[in-house]
Formats: sequence, structure tokens, C-alpha cells
Amino acid sequence: MAVYEDLTVIHPSGRLITVGWLGRDSNYDRGEVSTAVFAKLVDMLADPWQPAERVGMHYCDLCRFTGGNPDLVFRGIHVRMGSANLYVPDEGCILVAPSLILHFIDAHDYAPPETFCAAVLACPPVRSPEYFRALIRGGLHDVFPNQVPTAG
Ligand SMILES: [Zn+2]
Repeated sequence: MAVYEDLTVIHPSGRLITVGWLGRDSNYDRGEVSTAVFAKLVDMLADPWQPAERVGMHYCDLCRFTGGNPDLVFRGIHVRMGSANLYVPDEGCILVAPSLILHFIDAHDYAPPETFCAAVLACPPVRSPEYFRALIRGGLHDVFPNQVPTAG
């Protein structure tokens, strides 16, 4: 999996920003994450909208031997780890996190930036028309000019 410091701009438009791309050598923030933020992330990642073909599996580089459990279940919601990214609209930009962000929070004490947690809590249901409107305001067409989101 690609590794970035939190809040790294990774698109020339300046509108796609990383959160949660941790590797073994990352110096990441640790601390409390509210249940509300975690539960919302689980909900969003159960069936996240993807702009393109899925990339290969991501494995956790922080787990010493196993690469992390490929399945995460919380409050009866099942999330497959490592094959999807999550796009969270924020003011004038889009925050992109790997699905492994759930595992990093749950197993490795990771605390995402406050701006990300706030954007997650404010995010409309994924795949809803409101979600795509928010992504477009965040720069969706700059970041993925060939992608036409559908509310399907
Ligand atoms: Zn791990």
C-alpha cells in the first residue's frame, strides 16, 4: 500500500488529500477516536463508492506477521479490509482514506486528523445524491475528470 503523511496533497488540482495511509515507518498520531466516528466509518466503508476499478488488496504493514485480519465486523456490519478507498468530501477538497483506516484505528491506536473526523461525521450517506453533490463541490471532476458518479 502507498504510504503518505496525513493531509498530503496527491493530485495536481490540490483537491485530493490523504488520511490514514500508514506504513511501518510512519510517525502517526495516536489517541482517542470517538465511537461515533468509528461507527460512521464502518457504515461508509461497508459499501463505499469507488471512482475506478479496485486496486489490489492492501495489507497492514504495522501488523508484524499476518498483514492484519482481512475482515472487520462492528455492530453487525461487515467490512472487507484492504480493497477499497473511502472518499470523504471536505471544504473545497476530498479526503481519501484506505479501508484499512478502520484497522489502524482499531488495532494500532491511530487517531486521524480532527478535520477528517469532522468531515466523516458531516458526510451524507455514501452513494446518496447529497454525497455526490458534496464530492463535486470538493473537486470530484478535477480529481476524476472521466468519472460520472451515479447514485446506484
Ligand atoms: Zn495491523
